[in-house]
Amino acid sequence: MKKIAILGSTGSIGTQTLEVVENNSDMQVTALAAGSNIALLENQIRRFHPSLACVWDPEKAAELRVAVHDLDVKVVSGMEGLLEAATEPQSEILVTAIVGMIGIRPTIAAMEAGKDIALANKETLVTAGHLIMPLSREKKVRILPVDSEHSAIFQCLQGNEGNPIHKILLTASGGPFRGWSRAQLAAVRPEDALKHPNWSMGRKITIDSSTMVNKGLEVMEAHWLFDVTIDQVEVVIQPQSVIHSMVEFADGAVMAQLGTPDMKLPIQYALCYPNRRDLPGARLDFAALGSITFEKPDPETFRGLGLALEAGRRGGTMPTVFNAANEYAVAKFLKKEIPYLTIVEMIEAAMSHHTVTEHPDVEQILAAERETEEYIRSAF
Ligand code: NDP
Repeated sequence: MKKIAILGSTGSIGTQTLEVVENNSDMQVTALAAGSNIALLENQIRRFHPSLACVWDPEKAAELRVAVHDLDVKVVSGMEGLLEAATEPQSEILVTAIVGMIGIRPTIAAMEAGKDIALANKETLVTAGHLIMPLSREKKVRILPVDSEHSAIFQCLQGNEGNPIHKILLTASGGPFRGWSRAQLAAVRPEDALKHPNWSMGRKITIDSSTMVNKGLEVMEAHWLFDVTIDQVEVVIQPQSVIHSMVEFADGAVMAQLGTPDMKLPIQYALCYPNRRDLPGARLDFAALGSITFEKPDPETFRGLGLALEAGRRGGTMPTVFNAANEYAVAKFLKKEIPYLTIVEMIEAAMSHHTVTEHPDVEQILAAERETEEYIRSAF
């Protein structure tokens, strides 16, 4: 029986992880954590019987405790609760499907406790990759990528251990505004940016995809996961989202992983690694697809991508500042408090203002996050 804890079980990745669990009789859920959606969390507790459930909001946790008093489940809350869920003693693997750099401490705690990580929460690796990757080697725990691009790269690397990577070709759909000018982008509203052409995802990552900030975060994620430099990762626009990414080896051979856009494939691969299992759902029909096309990204219009590469090359606390500014700005944009283009302006201003700390520890990363928010609040 594979025992699984999930942080962010009520979100897009979390609910799809539970679909995978439901389709595999040898998987069992031990702990679930959510932010505030206790109606869905209660439903999940009744279906999957974890021994521990965490709700970030303590008042909502108290409500949930009353609602599930008939069940044998402990309900916890806050960061202490998240850490308890991440380290639940029975679990072997933690699915980090929580959104944002709040995932840093629970991910590290789970690794310290010897759990493998099925990593969706890219913000944690972007900001703390220099701590997470050495820790995974020290504790001999696996970091199994869930992000579809990184899962694709990971799949391409199977059987190629020891063969040098020349470069990674990280594919991107280009989002809903591919081909648009900056003048057109100025009027974008949250409801426009929340319509992704190919993937159905949580709100924050959907906005990040539209600005190409998501692709920038993914370049930094690939840098840490696969031990390549930022400049060894080339972003290629592939609007059909059929090639999930590619690896070019030293001899020029290019390996690619293809499939329909379905996150359950990378989730199941991470949970069953190194095995492949049946997965219900649509399959690729190449004749119906007709063609797969490629384009270069437009860094002039989508400046978030260029800023991410700059942050990744600079290292230290700069990726944290990039990420924290983006998290803050996207939340503001979703509340209709700032225009669309201000998201990237806030990131750029925060990066210009920041003095980098090299090799930051967790406290210094979290301090850089706080300082970034404070700076943006005072400057905008
Ligand atoms: P969602 O917004 O759909 O879900 C986020 C989840 O995190 C929800 O369950 C939410 O709970 C929970 N959560 C938020 N804040 C807290 C908190 N403080 N404590 C506990 N739980 C919390 O996000 P996604 O599933 O889209 O994304 C999750 C992560 O996976 C992100 O890092 C994203 O970049 C990455 N990812 C997502 C992909 C996708 O297809 N969606 C693809 C690749 C990567 P509640 O519902 O109660 O608010």
